Amino acid sequence: MGRVLGVLRSFLSFVISSFFTNECLVCHIPFYEPDGVLPVSIREGWPEWTVIFFQNRFSFNMPGGLSLPGKVLCNDCWLKLQPVSDYTFLDDIPVIAPFRTNETLLKVIRYLKFSGGISVAKPLSWWMAKTLKDYVSPCDSALLVQKLIVPVPLHNSRRRERGYNQASLLASCVSAELGCRFSADLLVRVRNTKSQSSLDADGRRENVLKAFNVLEINEFYTKDIVLVDDLVTTGETVRECIRILKKKGFSNIIVLSAGKSLSAAD
Ligand SMILES: [Zn+2]
Repeated sequence: MGRVLGVLRSFLSFVISSFFTNECLVCHIPFYEPDGVLPVSIREGWPEWTVIFFQNRFSFNMPGGLSLPGKVLCNDCWLKLQPVSDYTFLDDIPVIAPFRTNETLLKVIRYLKFSGGISVAKPLSWWMAKTLKDYVSPCDSALLVQKLIVPVPLHNSRRRERGYNQASLLASCVSAELGCRFSADLLVRVRNTKSQSSLDADGRRENVLKAFNVLEINEFYTKDIVLVDDLVTTGETVRECIRILKKKGFSNIIVLSAGKSLSAAD
């Protein structure tokens, strides 16, 4: 019986793998490195867990014993991402991210939004989870488990159009990685706003003003929120989310994103 299940799992993993890309989504060169091979040189500034990522990144364990491929970038393109070692603050709220936003990360996020879904969310969220754990409690997982992971929501009409919310996908993968609770419904977008990318800081602030609300759900006893977005640029979207979360009594908030443009000097 166990052997039959094992064969079935391998077969399902193979079928799932066949839906995934076999070329790097940034440079479009077909993958040639055997799984688990380390890049020739990992520059200074990359955290210690970089080696673990390159040794294990090509598959991620899923519920039911399924294995999901997580190979989306070649070694060279992963190393074109820019690791972040500093913590920045938006007013008094920490904003943490594994990477600084650069051209390569923008390509990855574009793919996550419009084509890649979970095949990109899994490896990115692995980095986000490591960064969050390192910030909150590198040695004690008990502090992490108390946190509720909440994505920056899309408006329902936008989510229907795209099929999924990329921030929600990242948030659910981070929560699965760390064993924290996750809620896609606590924070809602009540107004369909324009894309922030074409607006300056003032325009961005105005665009998202009163765009969010918190649903009154009593089961969320924790006041510890990790607010997840794909990218934090000027921070106006998460600032507005934080404003409404604080108004509703959530006191302890951390912002976690895959990439950020803010730096300690901002
Ligand atoms: Zn590449």
